[in-house]
Amino acid sequence: MHNILIGPRKYVQGRNALADAGKYLKILGNKPLLLWDAAVKGIVGKTLLDSLRAEKLEPIDVDFQGDCTRKEVDRVIAIIKDKGADIAVGVGGGKTLDTAKAAAIETGIRIVTCPTIASTDSPTSAASVWYDEDGNCTGFDCWPFNPDLVLVDSLVISRAPARALVAGMGDALATWVEARVALQTGAGNIAGGVSTMAAMAIAELGYEILLEHGVEAKRAVEAGALTPSVEKVIEANILHSGLGFESGGLASAHMIANCLPSFTECRHLMHGEEVAFGVISQLCLDNAVSMDDVYEAVDFEVAVGLPVTFADIGLEGVSPGRLKTIGDACASEGSLCESHCFGVTSEAVVDAMIAADALGTDRKSLAGV
Ligand SMILES: [Zn+2]
Repeated sequence: MHNILIGPRKYVQGRNALADAGKYLKILGNKPLLLWDAAVKGIVGKTLLDSLRAEKLEPIDVDFQGDCTRKEVDRVIAIIKDKGADIAVGVGGGKTLDTAKAAAIETGIRIVTCPTIASTDSPTSAASVWYDEDGNCTGFDCWPFNPDLVLVDSLVISRAPARALVAGMGDALATWVEARVALQTGAGNIAGGVSTMAAMAIAELGYEILLEHGVEAKRAVEAGALTPSVEKVIEANILHSGLGFESGGLASAHMIANCLPSFTECRHLMHGEEVAFGVISQLCLDNAVSMDDVYEAVDFEVAVGLPVTFADIGLEGVSPGRLKTIGDACASEGSLCESHCFGVTSEAVVDAMIAADALGTDRKSLAGV
């Protein structure tokens, strides 16, 4: 396998970045299709439309119907063809962005992502996560290309709920923890190769930024302030984590996290919150990590309020028997747990989750939370 790094063609982040959207989009085309929901349009619609029209672009306004389903992508594709759109612009959360990416790739037009929350690392990636009509996740596609432009208005993101930024920190914290496992074993990355030194450096940088600025960024966002710490954490959540996971590699933290939605009690969790518990579980599974690394990660999660116990994820008192379904999925062929240098068994995953809960409970009580 070759060393492969992929990424978006341009990344723009800053206060009021959306007001310059026209300047960046006119390089890519003339008729941008804007995919967004009513709430997002209410927040950024005027700024974005004014900016596009000021550059003589002809925006096509499309209301997103709620999930990245085959049906929704086909509907957007039909509009792209009918109206002659030459750029698909996803504005909002991950599902909107993923739908825009899929429709753009399948029609051969340009892709722009404008995340309005920093809750996951999907905006820079070439992947779309699919859902069925009942809202169940059915897998993902990794497209041949990443977005042409990722346009991040940090003022908009700083005004979104702090919970979304914190969830993004959970997703981003996992990036380095998982990429270093994949590096050790030469496990493949999402890009279809193995990781580069650049991907590893970016993944580690994101981790360090979270440890240094995560708590302060949360405090600032809760106070309604956009500060340098918030900017740094947005970059870590979206850019560093996006490049790091896609070109680094995934492991048990995401595998365990991806199993949690099968429990109805966990349906309220955001992706990054599931991953946060997955990180602690992975660290308890892996005998190659130092206890300093384990305490560092769990104490950071406690400090920013990410879930570290069964009670935190809605599974207080869960039986080992129920956890076995997660263990079995983790131990199955093709699981992300194969990134580790040791064979991952169902029993080991169940015990690691139980240990993670005990560890999280203890560190929370030590921190007085
Ligand atoms: Zn993730």
